[in-house]
Amino acid sequence: MQRESNSKVFIFDTTLRDGEQAPGCSMSLREKLKIAHALNELNVDVIEAGFAAASPGDFESLKTIASEIDGATICSLARCNPQDIEAAAQAIDANPNKRIHVFVATSDIHLEHKLDMTQDAVVKAAFEGVKLAKTFCDNVEFSPEDASRTDRNFLVEVVNATIAAGATTINIPDTVGYSIPFEYGNLFKYLIENCEGSENVIFSAHCHDDLGLSVANSLAALESGARQVECTINGIGERAGNTSLEEICMAIKTRKEYFDFHTQIETKKLYPTSRLVSSITGMHIPRNKAVVGENAFSHEAGIHQHGMLQHASTYEIMKPEDVGIAKSNLVLGKHSGRHAFLDRVTELGFSLNTEELNAAFVEFKKLADRKKEIFDSDIEAIVINSESGITGPWELVDLEISSGKSWGASADIKLTHNDGRILENSSNGIGPIESVFKALEDLTGYSLKLTNFEIHSVSVGEDAQGEVTVTVRYDGQDYRGHGISTDIIESGALAYLEVINRIDRKKISRIR
Ligand SMILES: [Zn+2]
Repeated sequence: MQRESNSKVFIFDTTLRDGEQAPGCSMSLREKLKIAHALNELNVDVIEAGFAAASPGDFESLKTIASEIDGATICSLARCNPQDIEAAAQAIDANPNKRIHVFVATSDIHLEHKLDMTQDAVVKAAFEGVKLAKTFCDNVEFSPEDASRTDRNFLVEVVNATIAAGATTINIPDTVGYSIPFEYGNLFKYLIENCEGSENVIFSAHCHDDLGLSVANSLAALESGARQVECTINGIGERAGNTSLEEICMAIKTRKEYFDFHTQIETKKLYPTSRLVSSITGMHIPRNKAVVGENAFSHEAGIHQHGMLQHASTYEIMKPEDVGIAKSNLVLGKHSGRHAFLDRVTELGFSLNTEELNAAFVEFKKLADRKKEIFDSDIEAIVINSESGITGPWELVDLEISSGKSWGASADIKLTHNDGRILENSSNGIGPIESVFKALEDLTGYSLKLTNFEIHSVSVGEDAQGEVTVTVRYDGQDYRGHGISTDIIESGALAYLEVINRIDRKKISRIR
């Protein structure tokens, strides 16, 4: 039997689908593409890149990802209806490695309150859906949504029908994060023992972290015969999130002797990918997050602690370099050339094209003029935030701030627009950030609603860079911007201006 003789665990990443559904995590096509490339380099088996029928934007990004990614299987989600399945097939058509993932809810509570369908109708829809998907591609996954709360006999009936229709992967989602490990593992055992043809398909776990058990549940499913895990980078996803890719992969790797499983993940790319996703979504990684959090390893980020080196194994069950934390005492500075910079970037696990490298190197030089020592975390921030040449139309030329405890603050700002305009303005506010944002809105003519403002220090020392992330609501949509500088007020101005530029660029592309 394929499943029992094979210890390979397939990693199905759904950062761009389930992860993106999390509030505040929506991404632009460009951002999704950047993440898709990173996932491909991480060597995931499957990238679920979207839900083609959900919106024209989803369709477009799936199509672009499917035509650009060479390696991982590209997957689109679809409900069990012809429109959804045809949209999915069309969107991923360009890639030779493609999968259609059809789903229908099966639990009583969903049947009654969401679908208003009988069990017989659900079995029929699932069968027809898989059958239709099979006419477009051989690789078809089926998910009975809310499986963990579905009557077991009925679940067997649905799974039997979809295996008969040709499904190659059967995913058993714990949609609401309700299961506990022993129970979830048992469910897989039961299905594998009782479903006809179960030996010919791969069973898959899809867990949510509502009770903090998603990784534990996924491991229990693997022990009971599942061979695919659906997960997201940093565990992002609806509510408490999905199974975290880095945690499940490192559990399998670290406890190899216990599980006797393996994945094909390039674990050295885990940390850079995690940072990239965090930066794009604006979802910060908690310091104590397993595997990729700043405190996950006993040594301090950014500084090399010699003492740790000799005795690392006393406290560390994983090596930081295994997950791509390549911290070293190698500090770059003003005199570091392009070659040294590229070496460091590569060492940190990033791969840039020439255009991206050029943009990042310009930023590096600018930073080196302001800051004596440039740490790995500074380089990471530069690489992640350099948008390969896409900037403007607005650019910040000058910024002057004064503030006082008794009277508030004022900001003088000078901007240029790539149509040749040079604009200047000054605004007052309660504090410097408010006055900067006001001045930017007045100059550019936008009225924005700031919904989130975060600041954190990129590296160590008094001259450390501050990274500001803002989330802004405009015209019913959320926009995120980042800004990095050794001056935190300037970081704020850059982040706010990035949002304004994004809105502007969107308008221009719409007019065209
Ligand atoms: Zn889910």
